[in-house]
Amino acid sequence: MDLEYTPEQNAFRAEVRAWMEAHVPKTPLKTLEGREGYDQHVEWERELASGNWGMVTWPEAYGGRGLDLIRWLIFEEEYYRAGAPLRANQNGIFLLGPTIMEYGTDEQKARFLTPMAKGEVIWAQAWSEPNAGSDMAAIRSRAVRDGDHYVISGQKTWSSRAAFADWCFGIFRTDSESKRHKGLSFILLPLDSPGVTIRPIRQLHGETGFAEIFFDEVRVPVENRIAGEGEGWNVAMATAGFERGLMLRSPARFQAAAKRLVALYKEHAATASPAAHEAVLQAWMDAEAYALNTYSVAATVIAGGHIGAEASLNKIFWSELDRAAHRAAMSLLGATAELRTLPDGAANIWQEGYIFSLSGPIYAGSNEIQRNIIAERLLGLPR
Ligand SMILES: Cc1cc2nc3c(=O)[nH]c(=O)nc-3n(C[C@H](O)[C@H](O)[C@H](O)COP(=O)(O)OP(=O)(O)OC[C@H]3O[C@@H](n4cnc5c(N)ncnc54)[C@H](O)[C@@H]3O)c2cc1C
Repeated sequence: MDLEYTPEQNAFRAEVRAWMEAHVPKTPLKTLEGREGYDQHVEWERELASGNWGMVTWPEAYGGRGLDLIRWLIFEEEYYRAGAPLRANQNGIFLLGPTIMEYGTDEQKARFLTPMAKGEVIWAQAWSEPNAGSDMAAIRSRAVRDGDHYVISGQKTWSSRAAFADWCFGIFRTDSESKRHKGLSFILLPLDSPGVTIRPIRQLHGETGFAEIFFDEVRVPVENRIAGEGEGWNVAMATAGFERGLMLRSPARFQAAAKRLVALYKEHAATASPAAHEAVLQAWMDAEAYALNTYSVAATVIAGGHIGAEASLNKIFWSELDRAAHRAAMSLLGATAELRTLPDGAANIWQEGYIFSLSGPIYAGSNEIQRNIIAERLLGLPR
């Protein structure tokens, strides 16, 4: 195994670093979960696209740079090193994009991928329903065929930033007689379609990007379906693999947080408990371990391998690491951890991060479900 970067990879790193230093906003943006901050983050997506940095691994024909996964990891390291904003378009570029790349027709690729890479269309994921979260095969929202359209009715919930996004991708029951995983289709639609109502859900931090989506006889052209009618479950499982696997949470995000945590520890070293000391060390080591493991997975994928149920291991690891790192920060901050604005006037980003980290073991498939998957598919334990 060669753990050194090549001269070309180092040159690429220098190129990303220079661009980020020149373009990353000097003042932190407002939160992505509120309207104003969301708009600022969309602006940033377009700025990234102006430098052709929207999604470096995608083919040039679709707004990418045609680079391999190692360069994507290098890009991410420089992205977080520069303190660049979170990606407003993460559902598009990390989840739906790879899905269209694998299952979409050439027309669908041409129609959807480039506007996604350029940040012109921002996507929401419309999967969960009130009685179908972990048990997604229980979804009831239906899409009834009417000529060259589907007529969609039902309700989705917990859709991140759906209150602001332009389009959503969802799974709907296209065969009304079907049960469970069968008879579902993967369909894309604009959120401003007649018959769509978005009802925001206020989260713990008070912001309202999260939403319920109601569909009341919404007409969607059949050409917006990805893959065949009734094949939606397989497509959705591929999307879930991208979500839990390599892309959604790159190690650089946690390495950057661990580095900030070490700096915070140094500020509070005099009063830090031995337990906090231990937790900081553990967070730093776990972030490094996650990075090394991700390089190894990337090398496997480049060599033609696939990530299967191992994606569940990844998901558990990064979500628990993130929560533990933020818990350590809260303990270092002591009583000030409870303030939204710190005594020096700065926003308490650790608190916002901590609240968000609590949702890590739930979204992208809860960790209990990931443990079931690992037990059954990796360890071969009985159901
Ligand atoms: C911050 C955040 C963002 C999200 N974004 C989106 C989004 O953009 N789009 C979207 O569609 N959804 C989104 N979700 C929804 C998320 O996917 C669901 O919350 C998740 O799948 C769990 O479903 P549920 O909330 O219905 O809980 P339930 O399925 O009701 O589960 C409740 C509890 O029971 C446990 N449980 C359930 N079944 C089993 C089992 N068989 N074995 C062991 N334990 C079990 C679960 O682990 C959980 O702890 C988001 C959620 C959060 C918190």
